[in-house]
Amino acid sequence: MKIHEYQGKELLKKFGVTVPRGYPAFSVDEAVAAAEKLGGPVWVVKAQIHAGGRGKGGGVKLARSLDEVRKLASEILGMQLVTHQTGPEGQKVRRLYIEEGADIQKEYYVSLVTDRATQKVAFIASSEGGMDIEEVAATTPEKIITEYIDPLVGLTREQATKIANAVQLPAESTEQAVDMFQKLYQCYMDTDASLVEINPLNRDSNNNLIALDAKFNFDSNALFRHPEIVEYRDLDEEDPAEVEASKFDLAYIQLDGNIGCLVNGAGLAMATMDTI
Ligand code: ADP
Ligand code: MG
Repeated sequence: MKIHEYQGKELLKKFGVTVPRGYPAFSVDEAVAAAEKLGGPVWVVKAQIHAGGRGKGGGVKLARSLDEVRKLASEILGMQLVTHQTGPEGQKVRRLYIEEGADIQKEYYVSLVTDRATQKVAFIASSEGGMDIEEVAATTPEKIITEYIDPLVGLTREQATKIANAVQLPAESTEQAVDMFQKLYQCYMDTDASLVEINPLNRDSNNNLIALDAKFNFDSNALFRHPEIVEYRDLDEEDPAEVEASKFDLAYIQLDGNIGCLVNGAGLAMATMDTI
């Protein structure tokens, strides 16, 4: 199950990870009220959909006045946002997140993901944040580092320090990075996530770190343990046929056109289809 960025940031905050102040908004008036509450001088109006690449698609914009917040909110709310993750038809924007503008010095990439090959959680990091990690992987793979975490020990200080050094964070930021990386790992484990991705993790001109984006996927098989996360579910972001199937505990994957797969285990079945 996926959640929105603003919900992900709520979770991060709970685990002590620094995020900008912000409020979700479901209408243009709410967006302006949120901006007023935050105070200026710079705000970011962010489309909330369950897909990345929103910035490039025109779903993340800077505003320098309340009038501009109003204008951008009315443009983005209701738009059909097309990103490399939505498919050509795009996704309708029904929610916004109004956030305080950050002082961006350098953007980094960090994520946690379950690695089936090593049966461990992989901590992936790069000095090249802000852009698609797929692009970094394709053009400069040496700039992505991976650290595997022993489940019995957790992410050690030593490992976290190694990651911070590997992505060339300045010495002044190391303490904060180690603390944040360990909190991210705790958040990943405690919420039964299958992906936590912070892209970008921003370093400001005072070398303070702050998570500017938050992407979460959760293991559906563990959701029964997390009613507070199930509450974040947004059916508007899911395929109607898949929502219907999930009511009957059926694993159903909608494909392009008029094809769908009714399967016993979605991952295995789809891998089998790919192989065929
Ligand atoms: P997406 O990954 O879907 O494009 P992000 O949340 O990563 O969306 O935003 C895209 C870019 O917008 C970021 O890489 C960052 O440069 C900028 N950005 C996002 N949030 C803020 C913020 N609060 N302040 C300043 N810039 C931001
Ligand atoms: Mg991002």
